[in-house]
Order: sequence, then C-alpha cells, then structure tokens
Amino acid sequence: MDTRGNGTGGWSVGLDIGGSKVLGVALDPSGAVRHEVRASTVRGLDGVVSGAVAAVERLADLAGVAVGDLSGVGLGLPGVVDVAAGTVEHAVNLGIEARVGLAALVAERVGAVPVRLENDLNAAVVGAAQFVAPHDADGGRDLAFLALGTGLAAGLLLDGRLRRGSQGAAGEIGHLTFVPDGLPCKCGQAGCLEQYASGSALDAAWPSRTGAPAPAEVFAAAAAGDPRAVDLRDQFATAVAAAVRVLVLTCDVRHVVVGGGVSAVGEPLLDAVRGVLDRAARTSAFLESMRLAERVTLAPSGVPVGAVGAALVGRGDVTA
Ligand SMILES: [Zn+2]
Repeated sequence: MDTRGNGTGGWSVGLDIGGSKVLGVALDPSGAVRHEVRASTVRGLDGVVSGAVAAVERLADLAGVAVGDLSGVGLGLPGVVDVAAGTVEHAVNLGIEARVGLAALVAERVGAVPVRLENDLNAAVVGAAQFVAPHDADGGRDLAFLALGTGLAAGLLLDGRLRRGSQGAAGEIGHLTFVPDGLPCKCGQAGCLEQYASGSALDAAWPSRTGAPAPAEVFAAAAAGDPRAVDLRDQFATAVAAAVRVLVLTCDVRHVVVGGGVSAVGEPLLDAVRGVLDRAARTSAFLESMRLAERVTLAPSGVPVGAVGAALVGRGDVTA
C-alpha cells in the first residue's frame, strides 16, 4: 500500500519541541506509540530545524520505514503558530522571535512528506484525549489540557475541534488576575494566575534544599508537616483550582487534564487540588452541581502526550 503523503494509513512522527528538550514519537499505522526519542533542544532557527530533522530521521529508522514513506510529520511548538501557513513566531524559549516558515524548512530537508505545525498545548490536548478519555460517550472530544510549567496555560479541545482562537491565544488563562495588585508578571500586569500556579511560582517561593525540583520538595515537606510548605502547597492548590474553575465554567469541558512539569508531583497534587474544589462545593450548590473535582485528572505519566498529539496532527487527524 502506498501511503506516501496521503495523510493517513502509514507511520507518522510527532515532535514536542520544548525550550530544553525535544521529545519525539513514532506512531504505527494503528496510532499506537512504538518508538520514542529524546534530545536536547538547540535554540535558534538553525538548531531547531536540524534537531527536528535528526529526530524525524531517527524515528523513521527505528520504525524501519523511509522518511519519504511516513504519512506525516507534526511539530508541537511553544509559540504562536499559523497552522495553514506552516509558520511560527514568538517562540521565545526556542530563540525564534520573528515569523518563520518552519514547516517548509523542515520539509525541504526531510523530503516529500507533509510537515504540519501546531501550538504545543494544542498538540498536548489532542494527545491527552487519546489516553484520558477514549471511552467517553463522546469519544474523548471534550477536554482541556492545563499545563503547569514555566507558566500556566491551557489547550482546548471542544466538541472534537481545537479552539485555537482568533489570534491563537485561546487558553492563555495564566494572565487572568488572581490577586489584585499582586506579584508582578512579565506580561506587564500584576497578580496574574501564573505567578501563583506554575512551576516557576514554586521555584520562586521555595528555594530547593536538596537540588530536587521545588514542586516535589514542597509537597514532600508539606506531607511531613512543615508548616511553611503546607501553606505554600495550599496556596498553590487554590490557584490551580481557580484555573480549573475558569476552564470548566467557560467551556464546560468534561475533563481538565493537568500536565506540565509540576504534574510529576502526581497524586499529592491531584489530591490537593481536588480538596480545594471539594471544599468550595460544600458551600455552593451551584459548584457542587458542576462536579469540578471529578473532572480533574493528571496527564498520564511516562507518555509524551505532546509528541503523540503532534504525530496525530502530522498525519492529518486534526482539522485545520
Ligand atoms: Zn501576566
């Protein structure tokens, strides 16, 4: 069967290109993850293109197919992506600021394969839907991916379609005001939600004592009864719960999948956020009826959902 370039039916490759690392997967024709690669990100346009090409070639090699026989390549990028034009801009963490035709630059190097770009959180929500909600009555078509990393932002899959927004800014809830006149934010405002509910927020509030990531240390110290850590954990969970509330009350998504670096804390994070939501529900019949706590889940550990989503984008499963 010749599947070259037709967007379906063959192996596909997806890359989640982050500020520090590139995670890649190869999906077999059924959509199952068969191979993974990981590499350090080389910042700047040349480095990003070369890194992407090398990862695609490596994954095709692992899959035992020629690059030209892939049904598609998808790249998830932390920036503003024009899906139709195949361009990205404002990918500050990749060292790419001005608008560039990244899809064409990668395609030139890998050959006759469709190369598609997507915002990283949009790719992540597409990938997360495969794991979190495949058995929903609606087929896992309605969820938000809430990334708690350097910042805080969400990807939205609504009625099976990505909500990218008129300017690609849908889900930028990290810059909602959470504390009036609160901590300054690089966006120019003060008191933004991401100043309280991101990995960076915990890093700033809790200088690591052991070299372990601050979120893991804070939750471990809180579990051991350290009062400062308990306060910080509870403040953090309250801010994350606010993000969940915004997403559900705005879009009524069935699931809010918590991912990003902080989600490595695992169940203690989920318990803390659900605890805040449960306490709020006890004082409000309205919130209780929204069943917020039940909607929050963790992104699957050990699965690079952003790369999986990028591969699904690459093989044309996601409508532009
Ligand atoms: Zn802000």
